Amino acid sequence: MPLSPEQEAEIAELRSAPQQTLRATVPGMEAHLYKAYPVLDHGFVRVIDYMGDDAAICQAARVSYGRGTKSVQNDEGLIRYLMRHWHSTPFEMCELKLHVKLPVFVARQWIRHRTANVNEYSARYSILDREFYIPAPENLAAQSVINNQGRGEALTGEEAARVLEYLKADSARAYDHYAEMISDEGQQGLARELARMNLPANIYTQWYWKVDLHNLLHFLRLRADAHAQYEIRVYAEAMCKLVADWVPFAYKAFEDYRLGAVTMSAQMVDCLKRMLAGEEVTEENCGMSKREWREFQGVIS
Ligand SMILES: Cc1cc2nc3c(=O)[nH]c(=O)nc-3n(C[C@H](O)[C@H](O)[C@H](O)COP(=O)(O)OP(=O)(O)OC[C@H]3O[C@@H](n4cnc5c(N)ncnc54)[C@H](O)[C@@H]3O)c2cc1C
Repeated sequence: MPLSPEQEAEIAELRSAPQQTLRATVPGMEAHLYKAYPVLDHGFVRVIDYMGDDAAICQAARVSYGRGTKSVQNDEGLIRYLMRHWHSTPFEMCELKLHVKLPVFVARQWIRHRTANVNEYSARYSILDREFYIPAPENLAAQSVINNQGRGEALTGEEAARVLEYLKADSARAYDHYAEMISDEGQQGLARELARMNLPANIYTQWYWKVDLHNLLHFLRLRADAHAQYEIRVYAEAMCKLVADWVPFAYKAFEDYRLGAVTMSAQMVDCLKRMLAGEEVTEENCGMSKREWREFQGVIS
């Protein structure tokens, strides 16, 4: 398990002392609170705190739209309406604070989502653990031949073994040198903030990440998508499960109107209408680029 004994003890202590509150709580989320869910070989994601629930989204919407929301009787219907019509601010009333342990190269993708608050483990102040992400054999894939940004078939045989050995040996060697450089036995010892620069991007880091539900769903739409890199997608998938237990109506609406939905260009809609009217629409007469036509085929087939 990726947690240290101290962290495990802290979680057990936090979970052993429930506190009474007048604030809205969600049983599904209370069950997750503080627990670490493993992701990749040493990573995890765990809920540190949350604010709000499905009702908080509706409460905010009813304040802002007043009588306009009266036609939607129940909370689920209102949330689905808000999601369908891109009303975003009611979803910002809910907040989630996570503790995430993740490889640095995943963190680099994750940090591009600027609408969150982050506090990261300091490798200037503390010594990084000897923990590196080494892909499972089935995830050790070759460069995709159709997608410059993706991966294809898993490597096999001697090549897979050699690559795995490189990853393990390079990580170990870099960490040995890191530890040796900062060690002060018989030498001054290089500052931690400098010694870390020889460490590879598969070393693990940790951070607290706090975000509102609107921006969290935006993150999940991009990172739980099949086009996202596997190593960040597995974090997004773990987070989707947490969100589903926290705000079930909002999560279902998100699945229906974002995750499972598609966006069509004006040309795509036009082609679809022509097809429904019985016209034979082809790549040649569709009025779209080759690539857009291919994407359209992906949507309708
Ligand atoms: C599959 C995939 C491939 C990618 N490939 C690359 C790549 O090759 N190279 C690369 O550099 N990035 C890449 N990215 C990162 C991507 O371009 C975004 O930076 C990242 O997904 C964060 O999205 P965001 O800016 O919408 O999110 P957030 O930063 O959370 O922002 C949310 C929304 O807030 C608004 N916003 C936030 N900050 C500002 C601002 N300063 N000004 C105006 N509006 C703002 C925007 O509307 C934005 O959509 C990739 C992402 C994905 C999912």
